[in-house]
Amino acid sequence: MTGATDIGSPPFGDAADLAAETARIYDICAGCRRCYNLCPSFTHLLDTIDEHDGDIAALSVEEDRRTVDLCFGCKLCYPLCPYTPPHRWAVDFPLLMQQARVARADREGVAFRDRVLGNTELLGRIGSAVPVVSNWVNRNRAVRWAMEKTLGVDRRRRLPRYTRRFSRWFRRQTPPAGVGRSGRVALFYTTPVEFTGADVGIAAGVVARVHDLGQYLVKLHVEGKLEQSFATSLGRVAYHAPCHLRVQEIGFKARDLLRLVPGTTVEVLERCTGMDGTWGFKREFYDASLAVARPLLRDVDALDPDVVVSDCPLAALQIEQARGRRVYHPVEALLAAYEGRALARTG
Ligand code: SF4
Ligand code: SF4
Repeated sequence: MTGATDIGSPPFGDAADLAAETARIYDICAGCRRCYNLCPSFTHLLDTIDEHDGDIAALSVEEDRRTVDLCFGCKLCYPLCPYTPPHRWAVDFPLLMQQARVARADREGVAFRDRVLGNTELLGRIGSAVPVVSNWVNRNRAVRWAMEKTLGVDRRRRLPRYTRRFSRWFRRQTPPAGVGRSGRVALFYTTPVEFTGADVGIAAGVVARVHDLGQYLVKLHVEGKLEQSFATSLGRVAYHAPCHLRVQEIGFKARDLLRLVPGTTVEVLERCTGMDGTWGFKREFYDASLAVARPLLRDVDALDPDVVVSDCPLAALQIEQARGRRVYHPVEALLAAYEGRALARTG
């Protein structure tokens, strides 16, 4: 896929170019409307254009700014759009929003809180230094009030729970005898796994000793090499497919893996949780973020599954906060099935 996922996509040039491209794409979207209700950004944009009787030029600077602010960068509109490149209209709405943010940062600088919240490596290092203390501090009401005042992090938003650093745990492990029969595997882990998801990393590492993760596990299964000595069923699983995986269009590998566990049924929930990046943490977008997640939460309620699973730690935070359900990463669920452990619904 090109366009929305191209990190090196060129900017539109100067402010006049960006304004012209913005008007061009808004005009196409106003005629199409397919993305109405897809996210708060489109709902706001299309409603506002309607209020101006379809006159794009009548949009105020504030109205345009709000369109950009309400885009949380999930990129879901890209694969839905029939007019993306190579179509001659070359609509790339996520790229347009990204370039508008870049132009604003050039003009106005990057706000202090965005500098802080965007530095997940630094926050992770501080938080994981003494996780017990960090997690206590993050739950303290006075601290949360101060955090809201200084960084604009909504005090109601549940924060990621810091854990010991995954890389340190991993370095201390001794590979078991016989490991490597299926070749060498490089395990790339994300910043959230390093600082707030050690359990996920550990589950990935343990499963890797049996074989490996995600696409690779499916590949091994296809080759008949996947260990299938599951000790227990997972029951009825609700699998939340995160936006970034849906945009990549690689299929639902976690669903396929979980379905290998005997006696397990998996329902895929293809809905957004409205959390992307730091958007769902910010005070001014907290309620909008919950509103985006409501259809997904309704699906979870209707299914009332034994286990809720998502590959996305931010989506897990949203579901856990809104429903009090514990959300597991697919490899945590697989590890429990191998070990014959029941997974708690809450906690
Ligand atoms: S992004 Fe594409 S599909 Fe969505 S409203 Fe605009 S033109 Fe239509
Ligand atoms: S990237 Fe996501 S949030 Fe942004 S406009 Fe597209 S669908 Fe909406």
